[in-house]
Amino acid sequence: MAKGITRRSEDYSRWYTDVIRVAELAEHSVVKGCMVIRPWGYAIWERIRDALDAMIKETGHVNAYFPLLIPESLLAREAEHVEGFSPECAVVTHGGGKKLAEPLYVRPTSEAVICSTYARWMESWRDLPILVNQWANVVRWEMRTRLFLRTTEFLWQEGHTAHETAGEAREEVARMLDVYRRLAEEWLAMPVRAGVKSASERFAGAEETWAIEAMMQDRRALQAGTSHFLGQNFAKAYDMKFQGRSGDLEYAWSTSWGVSTRLVGGLVMSHSDDRGLVLPPRLAPLQAVIVPIYRSDERRSEVMGKAAEIGRALEDAGIRSRVDDRDHVKPGAKFFEWEKKGVPVRLEIGPRDLDAGQAVVVRRDLGKESKETASLEAVPGRIGELLDRMQDDLFRRARERLETHTHEVEEYADLAGILNGELGFVKAPWCGNPACEEKVKEETTATIRVIEEAERDHPGRCVVCGRDSRLRPIFARAY
Ligand SMILES: [Zn+2]
Repeated sequence: MAKGITRRSEDYSRWYTDVIRVAELAEHSVVKGCMVIRPWGYAIWERIRDALDAMIKETGHVNAYFPLLIPESLLAREAEHVEGFSPECAVVTHGGGKKLAEPLYVRPTSEAVICSTYARWMESWRDLPILVNQWANVVRWEMRTRLFLRTTEFLWQEGHTAHETAGEAREEVARMLDVYRRLAEEWLAMPVRAGVKSASERFAGAEETWAIEAMMQDRRALQAGTSHFLGQNFAKAYDMKFQGRSGDLEYAWSTSWGVSTRLVGGLVMSHSDDRGLVLPPRLAPLQAVIVPIYRSDERRSEVMGKAAEIGRALEDAGIRSRVDDRDHVKPGAKFFEWEKKGVPVRLEIGPRDLDAGQAVVVRRDLGKESKETASLEAVPGRIGELLDRMQDDLFRRARERLETHTHEVEEYADLAGILNGELGFVKAPWCGNPACEEKVKEETTATIRVIEEAERDHPGRCVVCGRDSRLRPIFARAY
């Protein structure tokens, strides 16, 4: 197996850390719990960000930026919200060498500062809806951290919207959840289950939290995005009032929704293997790398010239590529390096290939077995096909995993057996009582991930207490 990478079967958690290290995605910083996102990791995040930013704009939103620091008194206005977030907040007590009159919180999320701003922006119903997104960093003091999945500071986007009616706000929540589902499935090749959270897993201050949940290769769940219906809670706390159509003052209905750099962790755990990172072609910063092979100087310039020509042809075809023309690195070492970094397709071209007018092409996810030759003029078209196919294959394999390891059970013993054993998503009837949910958590460490729309009216008997139930949530152990 690849040097420096623990096998998944041996220790999944160490494998994850190893892949991130060898692929040069990120590393720990001098501040515990914070990470340095290295250029390769950041380039992947940029691709995710650009794809999502386009979708956010297509759905009618605009970007803006709000301050990092939030006065304590402002945060404290929504009681449930502050109670939920205070324990994990970093607080600035000094500035300019003096103790501040009022402590400033480093944003854990921006409802407080944004809702109080919107209050000034809205006078009449004509000012609504307000549809704004922000790309930013946030800080949540985490005790147990893991690169990308849980870090004290992370990057994310947070959409915040205000609406005239509850119905419009609910539509917004559903619309953005669907945007996240599309991002996960169409770009990250990561199939998800979408639904509503139980009360215990709800965002602090929300009336409803909707989420998408993906299944990692170790069959644990990863919450990949959330969309919150905030009702009028924040409007009342932050005075988001407007003159309604009837002339009366009304409170706005608000939503918020976000995804973070955690998605990069999800990407790693969805597709990568014991040889390193595997990237879905649509998100790969580089989709193809061209490795020129030559033993003597005689044909070096000829091979290099052809490699550069192929590189230009790929760029013209809209394929992100690079010629690895480093003289001091041997071809084998180059193969190894790009494999670890997850570049979807590798092209090899040597003197013999040149004479035959062809190049060797290898897919990252399939490895040696996928080795084929393509005539030089056919290369751009062929690579384009392989990239599309690989994107589809990664999604298909991940969906098969999700389907194979989703179980429907009626009996508690079956639920506990799976959640304490092979793991996976378990759909089981639940009466809605938090005590039953808590018992599952205590005995299996699994939580309710989501209740899918279609499972909100599914008559049965609670898997824990046996009482009548209408809900059938997905239980799973989660990251
Ligand atoms: Zn029950």
